[in-house]
Amino acid sequence: MTISQLARSILDSPTLRLNEEARRLKEKGIPVIHLGIGEPKNRAPITAILSAAAKLSSGEVKYTPTDGLPSLKKAIIKYTEENYDRVAAPENIIVTNGAKQSLYNVIFSIVDPQDEVIILAPYWVSYPEMVKMVHGIPVIVTPEDGSFYPRMEDITDAVSSYTKAIIVNSPNNPSGVVFPPEFIAEVVEFCESKGIYLILDDIYHKLVFDGVEAPPAYKYTKKDLESTRLIVINGVSKLYGMTGFRIGWVIASRRHVEVMTNVQAQITSCPAVVLQAAAEGALNSLQSYVESLRLTIQNNRDVVMQELKSFNGIRVTKPQGTFYCLPDFRAYMEDSVRLSEFLLDKARVVTVPGKEFGMEGHLRLSFAGTVKDITEGIARMKWALDPDSPREIYIGDHKLIRDWL
Ligand code: PMP
Repeated sequence: MTISQLARSILDSPTLRLNEEARRLKEKGIPVIHLGIGEPKNRAPITAILSAAAKLSSGEVKYTPTDGLPSLKKAIIKYTEENYDRVAAPENIIVTNGAKQSLYNVIFSIVDPQDEVIILAPYWVSYPEMVKMVHGIPVIVTPEDGSFYPRMEDITDAVSSYTKAIIVNSPNNPSGVVFPPEFIAEVVEFCESKGIYLILDDIYHKLVFDGVEAPPAYKYTKKDLESTRLIVINGVSKLYGMTGFRIGWVIASRRHVEVMTNVQAQITSCPAVVLQAAAEGALNSLQSYVESLRLTIQNNRDVVMQELKSFNGIRVTKPQGTFYCLPDFRAYMEDSVRLSEFLLDKARVVTVPGKEFGMEGHLRLSFAGTVKDITEGIARMKWALDPDSPREIYIGDHKLIRDWL
């Protein structure tokens, strides 16, 4: 059997692998609690469903332009104007199969072999793999002070003549922190002056708590969409909890959109028309839906923080956005992969090892699920790890007694 060196070098997606594992265990009747996955429990907005259903029942389910339906682009233009204070032309937009493909298109269109892309730890698992997929080199920058906030001096130290781009994801998956506006202003100024692309993964930009804002990076540049080094990625997955619809988009210069369109045309032709219609329906509806999802997730965040407070030994940074937190579990175990396996084995709770995000010793917990799952999941973790917690617990119908602490 022949497998290319490049293909062999690409890791699997730990989050998707864990989803699969959780599904398998659930099928066997094992009462698994999934604190791994980043998708809310909501139903898709009714406007999205009706719009998709109308397209489906029209029977006209055909290819669309590679870069997306003009009517969807119109909705994206409106969204960009309202949320980013920028007027994009249709030629500045490419609609993709999820924000994942947006990122891949962007990376493909700007990175040559051996070019470097700076990725800020903790980072979303796919960034380094995508850079490797185009023969680029991911350069990981980790905050020296153990916090989740990147520092400009660490970034400038990591920049070389090969640096093509920096990826910034704020609100951040996996830490839940929102980078301060001063940092965004600095990194924008730096990239614009050095001619380095700043790829802004804004997929969680509306999912912020306690009045914290994630200001659009455009605010800090005077350049227009044709000359700026800023490239912004967005999508419906997190905004409306429409993960299965697989629609994302990029705002970039016309030339970049043109080359990304060529790439996409050769790979997937276009995103599915029914799903584009759904995204259009969601974007054109009343945006109170987004606010109610945000409030639900903010409440879940409060529950997580409350439950983790009484977890002896762990340290956690309070998330200001997203569905995730990344507590430090080093008091219990340094090896996050082993810890995550231990928790799945003993407590039947799915977590994602921090190692996958460049933060060993931590676990990413998702609070996108139900309050019941969050409270029960954390209670089970406490039972498995904390010697001060009660020795007995019910997992499903089974009463279990801890005999390892
Ligand atoms: N960026 C980040 C930071 C994400 O967390 C995710 C989804 N987990 C994506 C991009 C991809 O989103 P989509 O489902 O639209 O492909």
